[in-house]
Amino acid sequence: PPIDEVIAAIAVDIPDFPEPGVVFRDLTPVFADAGAFRRVVEAIAGSVLEDPRVGALGAGPGDRGFDVVAGVEARGFLLASAVALAAGTGVVPVRKAGKLPRARVSADYALEYGTATLELHTDSVAPGQRVLLVDDVLATGGTLEAAAGLVEQVGGIVTAISVVVELPALGGRERLRPHTVHTLWTT
Ligand code: 5GP
Repeated sequence: PPIDEVIAAIAVDIPDFPEPGVVFRDLTPVFADAGAFRRVVEAIAGSVLEDPRVGALGAGPGDRGFDVVAGVEARGFLLASAVALAAGTGVVPVRKAGKLPRARVSADYALEYGTATLELHTDSVAPGQRVLLVDDVLATGGTLEAAAGLVEQVGGIVTAISVVVELPALGGRERLRPHTVHTLWTT
């Protein structure tokens, strides 16, 4: 079956979590399923190559179009590490405030519920390096907008943003413009 059907069949909707009125898409069963996890990881690792703009992103033979994968704490870590291994790149963490020990940049952002701060080590992306930015869910886009801003602040190029699930009603894709957003399941 197509990957969106695989994800839809395994993901679990949790009404009123973490607050009344929010329907939380729980992807942990997708990550726990060996076959589904492999398909998700391989689809994300190949997502830039499938982009019609891939030539403009500089991808040539044997080049997936990115030099490093950045994952957003915490569920983005589960994906980013596996995607980096599949793609043959390294992985860098975009972390919640107060976790990174060395020189770092910070960005405050609004969540679907609440506010938060993300940080990135200044030297974890080299100037001009192409970064594939990964998280599990795109909701309002505030989290990934902040993460992309951090990558750019240290001189990196956000080649694309890949998520497993996009909730289009929340407008995240528009908010992330002009970044390219790849999604495996839109719901
Ligand atoms: P945004 O900043 O796009 O509004 O929210 C995205 C962030 O919140 C992501 O880091 C994502 O993990 C989390 N998030 C928001 N809604 C959901 C949801 O329904 N399910 C899951 N698993 N995460 C969510």
